[in-house]
Amino acid sequence: MSTNEDCIFCKIIRGEIPASVVFEDDVCIAFMDIFPVKEGHCLLIPKKHYTNMFDVDPDVVAHLGRQLAELTRKVNAAFRPDGVLNIVANGSGAGQEVPHLHIHVVPRNHDDEFRFQFPKNYREKMAEREELERAARKIAEA
Ligand code: 5GP
Ligand code: ZN
Repeated sequence: MSTNEDCIFCKIIRGEIPASVVFEDDVCIAFMDIFPVKEGHCLLIPKKHYTNMFDVDPDVVAHLGRQLAELTRKVNAAFRPDGVLNIVANGSGAGQEVPHLHIHVVPRNHDDEFRFQFPKNYREKMAEREELERAARKIAEA
């Protein structure tokens, strides 16, 4: 298994630093976040070191997707929150701090203080169809 010497999550995989593990298999491991936003906040990561969605193997993502559904349902069953948020930050500009792909699973409640910060003027004006078509084409052709 290819891990990265200095990566904190690779150290968890190698057993060099402790973690509270929910489950693991050959490809991935789920463990509790050390600074939980809420009780039950955990992370799902591949055992092989990938930085984020930009470099991960598609087969590994497929496996993570199946295990993510399972983990999300388990968190929901265990804590009975009002909802469960799945988040992946890809790159520092998106808020990624640990450069080893990880998917957050965060129990949420209507009255919790966890918020996405939307830009000012957000939703004042709906996008023009032409603008949306242009963006969709740009992504499709990238
Ligand atoms: P990011 O901001 O990169 O999406 O999130 C990184 C997450 O990893 C944070 O929620 C942070 O609390 C968690 N984290 C950082 N270092 C450790 C650690 O050593 N152990 C565990 N379990 N979680 C960590
Ligand atoms: Zn790593």
